[in-house]
Amino acid sequence: MYSRREFLKYTALSGASLLLSSPLNAFHNRSAISTEFSIEDLMGKSKLNLYGKGFNLREEAANSLSAMLKEASKSGFNPYVVSSYRSYNHQKRIWNNKYTRFTKDGLSPQATIEKIIKYSTIPGTSRHHWGTDFDIIGSAKNIPSNPLHEKHFNQGGQYHAFKLWLNENSIQFGFKEVYTNNPDRKGFKYEPWHFSYATTACKMLSQYIEKEVIGELYKADIMGAENFTQEFLSRYLKENILDINPELIP
Ligand SMILES: [Zn+2]
Repeated sequence: MYSRREFLKYTALSGASLLLSSPLNAFHNRSAISTEFSIEDLMGKSKLNLYGKGFNLREEAANSLSAMLKEASKSGFNPYVVSSYRSYNHQKRIWNNKYTRFTKDGLSPQATIEKIIKYSTIPGTSRHHWGTDFDIIGSAKNIPSNPLHEKHFNQGGQYHAFKLWLNENSIQFGFKEVYTNNPDRKGFKYEPWHFSYATTACKMLSQYIEKEVIGELYKADIMGAENFTQEFLSRYLKENILDINPELIP
């Protein structure tokens, strides 16, 4: 078990701090308001005012998503938001259910954690906690049992046309894909459905690093947290949180 202080020292050496010292780029600086986010906000633990019809996001992201949905319907699509804001407690339920199931199947705590983080985030580390990110599919009708699967968005898939539309239009509304199809990327696999309201999310990620939120996980009230090592959390930060679309790195 490492103390939070030791961990901070370690990440400072590992290069995460280099990201901190780089100035926010011009795009982010356009919005001059310097918003302060608390560790609670960044971990999905605070009471957030949520907006949106059929989804829950921060006000600015919600307004932009409403505008994008309107534009999409003009182009003949009827998109559906599968998931938007998720609280820490929501993610904790997902985590603990999986942890219980996989350890019951006989996996070691370490193997269980590795298996969970293939598809799910550690509570307190999900971008869905921020109220800036959402998962969207091309239609509210005939939703398959596993709508968030790459095959539906690829050539021949039922959401392929909508995905092409998103790639073309989402940026006008301030949204960017997070988990891109770059084969060199580590961490979470390609998620063609997951988009983020870039201006706010970049500020939040910047403060996430600056406030060393990842160090909070040592004392997290989730199953298996006692197995989180310094090496594991450093890798998780580097790959699962920071190895994303470079345009979303502050
Ligand atoms: Zn998502």
